[in-house]
Amino acid sequence: MNREIINKVSNKLSENNYKMTSQRRDILKVLIENDSKHFSAEELYNAVKEINPNVGLATIYRSLELLNGLGIVQELDFDHNYRRYELSMDDEHHHHLICVKCEKIIEFNDLVLEGFEAKLEKEYRFKIIDHQIKFYGFCQDCQRDNAKQKTK
Ligand SMILES: [Zn+2]
Ligand SMILES: [Zn+2]
Ligand SMILES: [Zn+2]
Repeated sequence: MNREIINKVSNKLSENNYKMTSQRRDILKVLIENDSKHFSAEELYNAVKEINPNVGLATIYRSLELLNGLGIVQELDFDHNYRRYELSMDDEHHHHLICVKCEKIIEFNDLVLEGFEAKLEKEYRFKIIDHQIKFYGFCQDCQRDNAKQKTK
């Protein structure tokens, strides 16, 4: 399974004239092994460092930018200086609820949204190849905290 994804990514890289370097492979390994996690660049750096002590943070940033550009990794923006990443290739299609207070990410999928895509395609005669849906707000815990603070 891991090998399958690595092969897919290798193909995608070579299609775009990039090589699967050992550092890119290590990054992918970490992302594949933690496929329910949404890493910040620093968290990813720390995890990759455990299997490859020679990796640098600048390499992680550059690799993420490349992998994101090729659609291999998906970037989730919190704000300008806080981003999280996850593998988007071969991963189950899903959307995100992002808590702006504690930065918790909840994944969901809703078939109604996929039906909406089909409707858009028909209505605008537009061939949709991908979509990302993110909702920002407060998770249940943070709503409780907010309510507590208000009564103080
Ligand atoms: Zn929260
Ligand atoms: Zn996700
Ligand atoms: Zn969707």
